[in-house]
Amino acid sequence: MYYGAIKYNDIANGPGVRTAVFVSGCTLKCKGCFQPETWDFNYGTKYTKETQEEILESLKPDWILGLTVLGGEPFEPKNQKEVYELIASTKQAFPNKTVWLYTGHTLQELYQSGKVRTEYTDKIMDLLDVMVEGRFVLAKRNLNLDFCGSENQRVIDMKKTRLQQTPVLWTRE
Ligand code: SF4
Repeated sequence: MYYGAIKYNDIANGPGVRTAVFVSGCTLKCKGCFQPETWDFNYGTKYTKETQEEILESLKPDWILGLTVLGGEPFEPKNQKEVYELIASTKQAFPNKTVWLYTGHTLQELYQSGKVRTEYTDKIMDLLDVMVEGRFVLAKRNLNLDFCGSENQRVIDMKKTRLQQTPVLWTRE
């Protein structure tokens, strides 16, 4: 896997101060995507074990609320193994910090589509606190949405969704 950027002390992609990891590669190619350079699977820097260690190190301070993984597309089958390992390591080291993930796929596609699913798909979804899901749709763009770019996208509380077995939207506490 490659990544385009790692933003430390990020305040734009989830609540509080977070580490945000932008993985490379996306085949969804939404019209109006704000960073088409990340569609290339080789964009940026190669992701290594050292990269993961640096990310985990950045999460240590108490004031860092958690990790956000976005892209590109974290659920591209090529990316899922490393994304899973990063999230699993984060949850193991910091069980009280939250993990957010942005994907262009919908929850339904991730549970059902053969094109996306790998042995890691469910494992990733089982660890997420929040998933922002759905394609970016230019005709539905709305700059006033909380953590979404277009009105079709949803911010899903994955813990409550797993418990209630139906999609539950995330709300600020
Ligand atoms: S899913 Fe995200 S990265 Fe991929 S094309 Fe759509 S907006 Fe761009």
